[in-house]
Amino acid sequence: AALYRIDSWGAPYFAVNDSGNITVRPYGASTSAHQGIDLLKVVKKVSDPKSADGLGLQFPLIVRFPDVLKNRLESLQSAFELAIQAQGYESHYQGVYPVKCNQDRFVVEDVVKFGSPFRFGLEAGSKPELLLAMNCLCKGNPEAVLVCNGFKDAEYISLALLARKLALNTVIVLEQEEEVRLVIDISRKLSVRPVIGLRAKLRTKHSGHFGSTSGEKGKFGLTTNQILRVVKELHGSGMLDCLQLLHFHIGSQIPSTALLQDGVGEGAQIYSELVRLGANMKVIDIGGGLGIDYDGSKSGNSDLSVSYGLEEYASAVVNAIRVVCDRKSIKHPIICSESGRAIVSHHSILIFEAMGATALTIPAMNEINIPFVIEGLSEDARADYWNLSDAAMRHDNETCLFYADQLKQRCVEQFKEGTLGIEQLGAVDGLFDLVSKMIGGSEPARTYLVNLSIFTSIPDFWSIGQVFPIVPIHRLDERPVVKSVLSDLTCDSDGKIDKFIGGETSLPLHELDSGCGGGVYGRYYLGMFLGGAYEEALGGVHNLFGGPSVVTVLQSDGPQSFAVTRAMPGSSCGDILRAKQHEPELMFNTLKHRAEEFCRFDAGALSSSVAHSLHNMPYLQLASSCSLTAFNNSGF
Ligand code: PLP
Repeated sequence: AALYRIDSWGAPYFAVNDSGNITVRPYGASTSAHQGIDLLKVVKKVSDPKSADGLGLQFPLIVRFPDVLKNRLESLQSAFELAIQAQGYESHYQGVYPVKCNQDRFVVEDVVKFGSPFRFGLEAGSKPELLLAMNCLCKGNPEAVLVCNGFKDAEYISLALLARKLALNTVIVLEQEEEVRLVIDISRKLSVRPVIGLRAKLRTKHSGHFGSTSGEKGKFGLTTNQILRVVKELHGSGMLDCLQLLHFHIGSQIPSTALLQDGVGEGAQIYSELVRLGANMKVIDIGGGLGIDYDGSKSGNSDLSVSYGLEEYASAVVNAIRVVCDRKSIKHPIICSESGRAIVSHHSILIFEAMGATALTIPAMNEINIPFVIEGLSEDARADYWNLSDAAMRHDNETCLFYADQLKQRCVEQFKEGTLGIEQLGAVDGLFDLVSKMIGGSEPARTYLVNLSIFTSIPDFWSIGQVFPIVPIHRLDERPVVKSVLSDLTCDSDGKIDKFIGGETSLPLHELDSGCGGGVYGRYYLGMFLGGAYEEALGGVHNLFGGPSVVTVLQSDGPQSFAVTRAMPGSSCGDILRAKQHEPELMFNTLKHRAEEFCRFDAGALSSSVAHSLHNMPYLQLASSCSLTAFNNSGF
C-alpha cells in the first residue's frame, strides 16, 4: 500500500485489508482502517456470470459508491458551516453542483437527493444540461439554486425564464454583454421577473493548466467596462433590482489558499462595488476550483496536487469575503460555490484487467556467443565492441553505455544494408539489454496490455497529461516485482500510460499468469481512482470502444457488507455502430446471407458468432466473461 501511496491520496475512503485487497470506506474515517467493502468481492460478484447472483458484466467497469458522494457533499457543507460559525459570518453557504463534471443521471439525482437538506443546487452550462437540471430539481429542495452559466441564445434564456415560472430558483448569469439585452426583452415578453447574475473576468490569474480561462485575457466573463455597461443597461430598463449575484471562476484545481484568497478577495471587491452602484446583491458565487490531491503530496505546485483540505478552503473563502464586506460595511452575502471535481471524483472507480505482459528475456553473459557476434561486424562496429569491453573492465558505466548504444545503432544500419544476419542482430540486442540492465541496475519497463481505451475512459491523460492513481485492487500483500507501463487496446500510439503519480515513469505491478485467467494468481484487476469528475463526461468512442459497464454499490448491514443496487452493461458493438449511423440488424442479415451462400454447413455457427460480437462490448473478452446476461436490452 505504501508503494502506491494509497494512504496519501486515498484517505479516508480507500485502504488495504488483511487479504491485500483495496477496501472502500464510504463514510470515510468513521469506519476502521481495515474494515470496509472489499472491492475485489464487488468486482467478482458483478462480473462472474457463474456465481449465484453474478451479473456477468464485462470490463472495463465503473463501480460507483453513492455513499462516498454523500460524504463528500456533507463534508463540504460542514466545512463551510464550521468556517461561517468560527468567523461570525452573518449569512450561509449554498452549494451548487456543476453537472458538466459528471452528467450521469444517477449522479445528478443523488447530488440533489443528498443535498436537499441544505438546499444544494445545480449549475448548467448548456441547453441540455439546463433541461436535465430543471428536471432533477423538480424533486429537490425548492430553495436550491439553479445557476445558468455558459454562452446563451434566445432559446437558452427562454428556457431559463420558463424554469423561473416553474418556481425553480433560477439565476441567469450573464457571460457575454449581449446577453443582457436578450434577457431584458425575453423576460418582458414572457412576463417573468428574472434573477440575474453576472460573471466577472478577474485579474487574478491561476497559472496552472486549468487556469487558462482565468485572468484578464480569459475566455469567459465580463470585463470591468462591460460590467459597468450592463449595470447601466439594467438601470435604464428598471431592472437593476434583478441583478443579485456575482459569479467568477478562478479555474479548476486552484493550487493554494493564497491564490484562492487573492481571487475571492478581488471578487468580493467587485461585489461590494455592485452594491454601491445600486444592484440588489445577495449572492457571491465563487465558481469551482476546489482541488483534489491526486498524488497525495499536498505540494500544491502542479495540476496534480493542492496544498489544502476542505476546511482550509472554506475558511480561506469565508475570510476573504468577510474582510472586504466588513471594511465596506456591507451585509455578508450568501456564499455559493460550484465544486464539481471535489464532489464527484472519489465516488467512482474504473476497474480494468491486465490481459498480458510483454516478456522480457535478457540473456546471461555466458549465453551470448561473442565470437559469433564479432564475426559479421564492420570495422567500426568491431571497434565499438572492443571499446565497450575496455570500459566494462574499468567499470566506466557511462562509456560502456555509450559504446553499447553506438554498437547497436551501427548493427541496425548494417542489417538495413543487408550485411548483418538477423541472428547476429538479435545477439547484439541481447548484449545491449544486458549492459543496460547491469549498468542501470534494473530491467527496462515491461508493457502490460490493459483491457481499456484510454481515449474513452481516461481522456484527460491523453489530452492534457493528467495523472490519476492507478493501483492493483488485490495482491497488495505481495511485493510487485515488475516495472511496467500500460498499453491500451486502441490502434493508436497515444494509447499508453507511462506517467504515474509521484512523477514515476513506470508502475510496479505483479507477475501475471501466463494466458491470464487460469493459474495460481487468476485474473489481475487494476483500479483507476479519483476519476469520477470529467473523465466519464469527456470520453469519446475512439476506435469504436464504447463506455464501460457501471454498477452502483451501497453499504448494507455492516461495514464490510454491500449490495449492488444498479447494474448497467456497457455499450455493445451494435450500440456503438448504431451511434455512427450503421445499422447492425442489416449488417447481421447481410453477413448471415453471405454465410448461407458461402459456408452452408457452418452458416448457423458463423451467424451466431456475428450476433455474439454485436451483442458484446468491444473490449477483449476472456472466455468466462462472455456472458449472454450482459446483453444490452436494446437488441444488439
Ligand atoms: N463552474 C464553472 C463556471 C466552471 O467552469 C467549472 C469548471 O471548470 C466548475 C464550476 C467546476 O470546477 P471544479 O471541477 O474545479 O470544481
